Amino acid sequence: ARAVFDAFRDPALTRALIERIHALAGDRPINLMEVCGTHTVSIGRYGFRSIMPANLHLLSGPGCPVCVTANQDIDRAIALARVDGVIITTFGDMMRVPGSTSSLAAEKAAGHDVRMVYSPLDALTIAQENPGRPVIFMGVGFETTTPTIAAAILEAQARDLQNFSVLSVHKTTPPALRAIANDPQTRIDGFILPGHVSTITGINPYRFLVDDFGIPGVVTGFEPVDILEGIASLVEMIDSGLPEIRNAYRRGVNEDGNPVARQMVEQVFEPCDVTWRGLGPIPGSGLRIRPAFETFDAAKRFDVPVEPTVEPRGCRCGDVLRGRISPPECPLFGKACTPADPVGPCMVSSEGSCAAYHRFRS
Ligand code: SF4
Repeated sequence: ARAVFDAFRDPALTRALIERIHALAGDRPINLMEVCGTHTVSIGRYGFRSIMPANLHLLSGPGCPVCVTANQDIDRAIALARVDGVIITTFGDMMRVPGSTSSLAAEKAAGHDVRMVYSPLDALTIAQENPGRPVIFMGVGFETTTPTIAAAILEAQARDLQNFSVLSVHKTTPPALRAIANDPQTRIDGFILPGHVSTITGINPYRFLVDDFGIPGVVTGFEPVDILEGIASLVEMIDSGLPEIRNAYRRGVNEDGNPVARQMVEQVFEPCDVTWRGLGPIPGSGLRIRPAFETFDAAKRFDVPVEPTVEPRGCRCGDVLRGRISPPECPLFGKACTPADPVGPCMVSSEGSCAAYHRFRS
């Protein structure tokens, strides 16, 4: 165990926190869900599951944006990639995720113009350099990503880039947490709330967890000690029966988040109902481009037929994203499904739970 503690920046504090968690956890089953993909990766990397009390389960939630993108949205991007002259741009992980019968990477290999970008502003540059061709950015991501997409659309408007548009597959976090809290098949006793997303949202949008469900939540940073502090704080609230939404990431998150970024998102996007992989349709959980910006809305500009949705056979991503099973409980995990040859998106994305479990399994 000593080597485990030495790996952390503050071994003494780490040990004290782990002892505190063990002391408070008692022997009742406790299910905590980490909502953010970055937390999933840290928890795997530092082997936290193996040092938790046996009755305390750390479940991964729907915080990997690529993983929660529904097949029908990937199929729509694939259909757009097949339109003559179109250039599709998106983030790297999105390219490899299988849709119903193809993927953006497969379309690229087949000769269509699909390009990986690191930022939507790269897509703007491509649009500027290819004035005769439609350039579509497939935007996936949560509250952390949407301000940059909104900025790109405002910039495209300012530069009068008529050939640029966005296929918005963006989602917001709180409605997904409500869906999970409402799920009769999953019992979550506390949420490890996302550090990055909360820098934008602040902590108020999570208060419904306490008010409506009596479930505590802690906004948590990404250092090992941050995560352990978040877990200890949740276990303490579960033990006392006094749930709250706490902010344990004060160096990164202020209570009100970033109102300027939120205002920019609100200017360009409006809430809509969307389907999440695994969670199904969730009212008000998506962001579509407002009518005032519809010339930049790829969904409005291109009316393409989208193939019927076929889910990957045997993939349990949906159950993983809801916290109903952990990845190794999927019969395909590590056998038919590996990071080199993924069946579902949870194995494709570096933030996906299946990929994180596979990478750090001992
Ligand atoms: Fe899907 Fe593969 Fe994860 Fe199983 S291991 S749930 S097939 S991504």
